[in-house]
Amino acid sequence: MSNIFEYAPAPESRAVVDIKPSYGLFINGEFVDGHGKAFKTVNPATEEVLAEVAEADDADVDEAVKAARRAYTRVWSRMSGAERAKYLYRIARIIQERGRELAVLESIDNGKPIKESRDVDIPVVAAHFFYYAGWADKLEHSGYGSTPLGVAGQVIPWNFPLLMLAWKIAPALACGNTVVLKPAETTPLTALLFAEICQQADLPPGVVNIVTGAGDTGRAIVSHPDVDKVAFTGSTEVGKAIARAVAGTDKKVTLELGGKAANIVFDDAPLDQAIEGIVNGIFFNQGHVCCAGSRLLVQESVADEVLERLKRRMSTLRMGDPLDKNTDVGAINSGEQLKRIRELSEVGDAEGAERWEVACDLPTKGFWFPPTLFTGVSQAHRIAREEIFGPVLSVLTFRTPSEAIEKANNTPFGLSAGVWTDKGSRILSMANRLRAGVVWANTFNKFDPTSPFGGYKESGYGREGGRHGLEAYLKGEDS
Ligand code: NAP
Ligand code: MG
Repeated sequence: MSNIFEYAPAPESRAVVDIKPSYGLFINGEFVDGHGKAFKTVNPATEEVLAEVAEADDADVDEAVKAARRAYTRVWSRMSGAERAKYLYRIARIIQERGRELAVLESIDNGKPIKESRDVDIPVVAAHFFYYAGWADKLEHSGYGSTPLGVAGQVIPWNFPLLMLAWKIAPALACGNTVVLKPAETTPLTALLFAEICQQADLPPGVVNIVTGAGDTGRAIVSHPDVDKVAFTGSTEVGKAIARAVAGTDKKVTLELGGKAANIVFDDAPLDQAIEGIVNGIFFNQGHVCCAGSRLLVQESVADEVLERLKRRMSTLRMGDPLDKNTDVGAINSGEQLKRIRELSEVGDAEGAERWEVACDLPTKGFWFPPTLFTGVSQAHRIAREEIFGPVLSVLTFRTPSEAIEKANNTPFGLSAGVWTDKGSRILSMANRLRAGVVWANTFNKFDPTSPFGGYKESGYGREGGRHGLEAYLKGEDS
């Protein structure tokens, strides 16, 4: 909570959101009680219980899929692209109008700083709906045909709850599919507010269905026989289980899984900018980012200087109340995730890496982990190979570009990478040799709806965003 600069607290008001004591499932355009149990969602910064949320069982999922099928057959697939676009534009505009409410709710339920939910998540969510609204009446120019698949079953994680929802729902609807979506157990509230936005936009009932729950609800969606398309973002482990579950069926699948990105800093890089990029790469969203720059590869000749500047910059990060507008690093999303971060960091200690963390007093309530870096990391260390999914950076060094490439690619993942150098030609040659779906040059963690995003190897398959993102929701040119 404290560091070298002191600011007066500047909390965003919570009064803008109306959190109900309990929530049902959103099926066929209405909120209904589920047949199953309920679970609680908490504010990870305070451990305050925010609401009780229905846990959808197999019968609830079946009703949601039936509603989606009816809406698909009777309404949505028959509507012209231009008409569908009107709904998507309307949703995009309502998201902008209710942006403050969405940002505050996202920060309360997830723990991310309001600065990020307000300036990154929600604007990019609206941009996704605007972007795909524009495609709805131009699908014949997509290169992937213009025939939708049917009902999409979509399962998303907790790190960017509303953004992941937008990445899934906007292209699906633009292409003429209907959806059944499950948000993560720890972050259901903005998806339920999105359901209200669908009502406000007069979206025909059943086009979007939101079923809350945990892993079993997700399993029921992906294995439902009347789901034509499965879209999943989450861990590689669950992704593999889903790939096995749909093998041998007609379901089309896209998987967006984990990552362990290299952020590569050459000695000719503009170091002040590179330091900002390293910090943004790993401490943005508490490091709960699939494409986080969690492995810093720094050229040996500048390693000492970079580390010294990095530590100085890290010491200015403000950690604490996610709703405070000055907060840079918020709460870890759950006790379970905090436990995983702690355990893997302890493995780093045991493997002989050297831990350095920002000195700060952590709040006594809630889930917190200070911005941390490990030096003396070797490629064989688990902290260099496994996703920590928290504010923990592993630092390795290299001497030549070839060594940087070899180390960067020495991972089971392949989602993203960063290159910091003054030389344009080096950027291009590095980008060609890095086995990563996205390569950022002299920047990091930049997201735009026009740009495709996705992985190689264990980071999954399929692309989301851009024209390429339409492919996952269309039957292809020949049909
Ligand atoms: P997770 O455990 O795989 O969960 C993701 C979603 O799947 C949640 O909604 C989860 O439900 C649900 N789920 C769990 N077991 C399931 C099953 N057997 N069948 C169907 N659904 C199931 O992942 P996480 O730990 O929440 O999220 C972090 C992971 O997501 C990281 O590995 C990160 O890299 C990855 N990620 C990837 C991207 C990308 O675009 N590549 C983006 C963001 C995150 P509950 O959580 O409710 O139990
Ligand atoms: Mg929560």
